[in-house]
Amino acid sequence: MMTARRRILISGASIAGPALAYWMNRSGWEVTVVERAPELRTGGQNIDIRGAGREVARRMGVEEEIRARNTHEVGTQFIGTRGQAVASFPAGRDDTGGATAELEILRGELSRVLFDLTKDHVAYRFGTTIRSLDERRTDIQVTFDDGTEERFDLVVIAEGMRSRTRRLIFPGTDPVVTKNMSTAYLTIPRTPDDTDWWRWYSATGGRSITLRPDNLGTIRATLSYPTRGDEGAATDDDPSRVRAALRERFADAGWQAPRVLREMAHADELYLDRVGQVHLDTWHHGRVALVGDAAYCASPLSGMGTTLSLVGAYVLAGELGRSIDIETALQRYEEILRPFVTCAQDLPPGTPRLANPRSLAGRAVFHGVMRAAASRVGRRLTAGLFRPPADAFKLPDYE
Ligand SMILES: Cc1cc2nc3c(=O)[nH]c(=O)nc-3n(C[C@H](O)[C@H](O)[C@H](O)COP(=O)(O)OP(=O)(O)OC[C@H]3O[C@@H](n4cnc5c(N)ncnc54)[C@H](O)[C@@H]3O)c2cc1C
Repeated sequence: MMTARRRILISGASIAGPALAYWMNRSGWEVTVVERAPELRTGGQNIDIRGAGREVARRMGVEEEIRARNTHEVGTQFIGTRGQAVASFPAGRDDTGGATAELEILRGELSRVLFDLTKDHVAYRFGTTIRSLDERRTDIQVTFDDGTEERFDLVVIAEGMRSRTRRLIFPGTDPVVTKNMSTAYLTIPRTPDDTDWWRWYSATGGRSITLRPDNLGTIRATLSYPTRGDEGAATDDDPSRVRAALRERFADAGWQAPRVLREMAHADELYLDRVGQVHLDTWHHGRVALVGDAAYCASPLSGMGTTLSLVGAYVLAGELGRSIDIETALQRYEEILRPFVTCAQDLPPGTPRLANPRSLAGRAVFHGVMRAAASRVGRRLTAGLFRPPADAFKLPDYE
């Protein structure tokens, strides 16, 4: 007798969602992915795939494709007021080392790779969100925003740090812990003076400007500044207000601020958010689970968000494949992954305040420390301190 395939609904088609879709399809589940945006979102900047995350990419067969789309960033440089390099850290040659990882790709490019890998076997529905969830004894009924209803065995939320559907299973909790800093991301034209370094300029007042190369012939810029509590930035704010506020904040920042602010007027996508982490005591409730940033965002400061998403999707699917009982699988997923997440969320001391000094004296001290850290001896002494813990996890074998 043929048994019906088990059905999973995944909400969010960025990194964690399509990665989970890949593994669940391979385990024989029928997979549907809904995404709030009308089409695949291709924005975003450089993200790193390190250690265990790289091993998952390898097992998915996409490591070479990711490498082919590498941003070719050669390392990180801290820049002084005259535009000179104060300290340089060349890109790591191994899986984990340094701020620039060897497997570095634009977020939108990785999302495209994972979408292309799964699109023929997975039902993607764009412009769709979950309105409500009704769990029963043997399944869960989902009502979508257009009023249609469908039943699934499992729902997984992969909606990123600011997930709204998460509120349906954990009402009244806000698990986002902000880091008192906001970052605006935008793409600007490349000029002949640009380099392939990730250039980091600390203006005073806790502000910083960074410029990074990409593989598409443009430059990825960020503007970061301190925020407190609920003040300031949110992705959903009115874009013209966001632009005006950034112009005011960075008018006297120096270095390439005038150029970035000028180009901001023409930038297609300005992505702005408060930097934060997600801390939850549990990542599932009944037949609903969380994966990626929605469950355990470590923040862009960690360099570990994408690695956690890839590893989380792999472990969640692996445990579901191993166990008939969904509850047991979801518990095992948490038990196995939690120590790795805790490690990744534990940011280097002084992050983000030390790298974003408030005063001229603070900037001089910061540059002094970076200069010492960039020396041959300094590099040996500090390597462990700034190395993201991407190897602190041994991937289980599920096949
Ligand atoms: C447009 C964009 C740009 C980014 N830029 C950077 C960057 O420059 N640097 C960096 O380090 N990280 C960036 N990130 C975050 C980075 O992608 C994640 O930290 C990491 O890769 C984990 O991915 P995720 O799939 O868990 O979550 P995310 O990448 O945050 O993706 C969540 C997905 O869920 C969708 N979604 C949200 N709410 C709903 C809903 N209610 N219903 C259905 N779908 C929903 C979103 O549209 C998005 O596609 C960006 C994310 C996005 C969406």
